[in-house]
Amino acid sequence: MKPPLSPETLAAQALGWVDETTRAVVPPIHLATTYLRDPDNQYRSGRVYSRADSPNYNQPEELLAKLEGGAAALVFSSGMSAATACFLALAPGDHVIAPKVMYWSLRNWLMNFATHWGLLVEFVDAASVEAVRAAVMPGKTKMIWLETPANPLWCVSDIAACARIAHDAGALLAVDSTCATPVFTRPIEHGADLVMHAATKYLAGHSDVIAGALVGARDDEHWKRIRLIRAQLGTILGSLESFLLLRGMRTLYPRVRTAAENAQWLASRLAAHPLVEAVLFPGLPGFAGHQVAAQQMAGGFGAMMSIRVKGAPALNLSGEAAAIAVAAQVGVWKRATSLGGVESLIEHRASIEGAGTPAPADLLRLSVGIEAKEDLYADLDQALAAAHRRNTA
Ligand SMILES: *Cc1c(COP(=O)(O)O)cnc(C)c1O
Repeated sequence: MKPPLSPETLAAQALGWVDETTRAVVPPIHLATTYLRDPDNQYRSGRVYSRADSPNYNQPEELLAKLEGGAAALVFSSGMSAATACFLALAPGDHVIAPKVMYWSLRNWLMNFATHWGLLVEFVDAASVEAVRAAVMPGKTKMIWLETPANPLWCVSDIAACARIAHDAGALLAVDSTCATPVFTRPIEHGADLVMHAATKYLAGHSDVIAGALVGARDDEHWKRIRLIRAQLGTILGSLESFLLLRGMRTLYPRVRTAAENAQWLASRLAAHPLVEAVLFPGLPGFAGHQVAAQQMAGGFGAMMSIRVKGAPALNLSGEAAAIAVAAQVGVWKRATSLGGVESLIEHRASIEGAGTPAPADLLRLSVGIEAKEDLYADLDQALAAAHRRNTA
C-alpha cells in the first residue's frame, strides 16, 4: 500500500487532477447553467441545473474535505452564507450557544435574523468550558458554535472539551476555523461535527474572492439539509470564484506558514514596544488562551493578532486617538478591513463594529501577510512614534 500523501502535496497539486480530454493540469471553468437530459428522460450525469451543483465545485470541495479530514465539503457564495446555512438547517425553537466574542456580522445575524426566525441564541464566554457547559439546555440545545481563535480579541476555545459537552447534550459542535485554517487546526479530529471557513480569507488568500465553505464530519441528515438550503437559496459560488478559490488553496500551506511565522516574530517584538499596551496573540506564552491553543494548534498560532496602543495622558492623547493615528501613519500596512490575504492589513476595529463591540477603543487588528517581517515591524514602529509625536507638535 502506498503511504497517504501529505496535505501539502494534496493542496499543491489540487489532488493531482488531470483533464481526461485535454490533459490540462488545471481545471477548466464551466459556465453552463444547464445540462443535457438523456433521451430516456434520465439525468445520468447527475447534473441538472447549476443552482444545485456545479462541476467547478468538485475540486475545491474534495480538496477541503481531505485537508480537514471530513466526509464532505460544500462551497458557498460567502463565509456568511456558509455559516448561516448551519443555523438555518436547525428548526425554530432550537437553542444554540455562541461566543460573546466572534465574527461581528455573524453575531449581528444571530442577534437579529436568527432570533426573529425563532432560534434561542445564548452568547457565552466560549473561552470558558464551564460557561459553555452551564449554558446547555438539556433536550433543547442543538448546536454549539465556536470560533477559535476568535475575532478580534483572539480568545481560544477548547474544541475537544466543547465537543464532549455538545455530544453529551445531543447537540452538534460547529467551529468557525477561518483564522486557524487546516494548516494549524483540524477541528474534526478534536470532535467537531462541522467546520466553517470564510474562504474569502486564507483559503483563497489574495483578497480577490468572496467565498465560504463548510466541511461535515458525516454526510448525515443535518448535512443534507445544509446542501438543500444552498441549492434552494442559491447561495452558490460563481464559476470564476471557484477557480480562484482552488488556485489560492494550492499555495495555502506556504502562505499561511510564512504569515504565521511573521506574526509570531512581530508579536514578541511588539510586546516589548514602549508604546504598545498589550499584544493579543495566542502564540505568546503569557496570553490567556495560549495553553489550549498549544494543544489544538500544531505548528503555529495563525497570523491574526491585535495590539492595544498606549495613550499619553500627560499629552491629552487617549489610547483610542493614538490607535487611530497609528492606522493613519502606516505605509506598508494597508488600512482596510478583512484578513487572510498575502498583504498585511491594519484596522481600528471598534470603529467598524460600532456599539456593543467587545473591542477596546485602543485596539488595532493586524492581519499579518507574507511580506518581509522587518518591513512590517519598521512601518509599525515609525507609525507608533509618529502618532505620539504628532500630538506633541
Ligand atoms: C470574514 C469572516 C467571516 C465572513 O465571511 P465572508 O466571506 O465575509 O462572508 C466569518 N468568520 C470569520 C472569522 C471571518 O473572518
